[in-house]
Amino acid sequence: MTGTPSSPLQRVQSGEEPEFVSYSVRDNVAWVMLERPDVANTQNLRLLGQLDDLFRCAVDDAEVKAIVLGGRGKHFSAGHDLGTPERDKHLERDRVHLWPSHLGLEGAESQYVLEQDVYLGLCRRWQEIPKPMIAMVQGGCIAGGLMLAWVCDLIIASDDAFFQDPVVRMGIPGVEYFAHAFELPPRVAKELLLLGERMPAERAYQFGMVNRIFPRDQLEKGVEEIAQELAARPRFGVTLTKQAINHIEDLRGKRAGMDSVFHMHHLAHAHNQLTNDHIVGGMDAKKMAAANKRKA
Ligand code: ZN
Repeated sequence: MTGTPSSPLQRVQSGEEPEFVSYSVRDNVAWVMLERPDVANTQNLRLLGQLDDLFRCAVDDAEVKAIVLGGRGKHFSAGHDLGTPERDKHLERDRVHLWPSHLGLEGAESQYVLEQDVYLGLCRRWQEIPKPMIAMVQGGCIAGGLMLAWVCDLIIASDDAFFQDPVVRMGIPGVEYFAHAFELPPRVAKELLLLGERMPAERAYQFGMVNRIFPRDQLEKGVEEIAQELAARPRFGVTLTKQAINHIEDLRGKRAGMDSVFHMHHLAHAHNQLTNDHIVGGMDAKKMAAANKRKA
């Protein structure tokens, strides 16, 4: 055995940098940043695995009292990777939960196993992180980007931020982590999904989906101040408070609702496969980007 450090925290402390996500700690706040600005921080499987590693660092580091999740560059995140050169769906993934490898599975099983693990599973796991989390959102927060923002406790946005779930264009009822009707009033959630338009930060703020809005050049400073407030609160009290609200949401049906819609999501993937031979209905990154620019 070599003396290779094994835990994510040990690796980060030894100076090892993950490829797609960065980690730094300032004044008791961990800053976890998506680092694929050239492709609007789209999420490939390695990025999600590295994100999970860095959240573990933040949990394991006793100095860390609050976590900020942000994305480098113009956009927070444009969702799951549909076609960059570093798309890695064909590769083995880091498996955090006890779902098997999706590689080599047939029919609906491969995508189902993959999404139970890396989309629904990781998001639920991250929502339960016992330290307070802030999503710092600028520019686009689209589809899988919404999932990352929604698992955080507070969403703080710049005035140029927008939120969008265009997945209905693929014939699918929204992204895998189906929190839409908990984040927004039902009729507004329907609007977000059915029209698939960009919802500006200001409108999301009106419905309580965004907590604060700052001018773009003051976003990081604004987030830092709020993170410092969170970091100054009693640790266990903060953990229990966040669990309390999560628990109430589950009692209102969030978890069960999400499970039932996840299966509709996979019915839609399977239907697309049967009718189109393509799980996202023939849409690719280019077609989605063109459609997403439309304001309707
Ligand atoms: Zn899916």
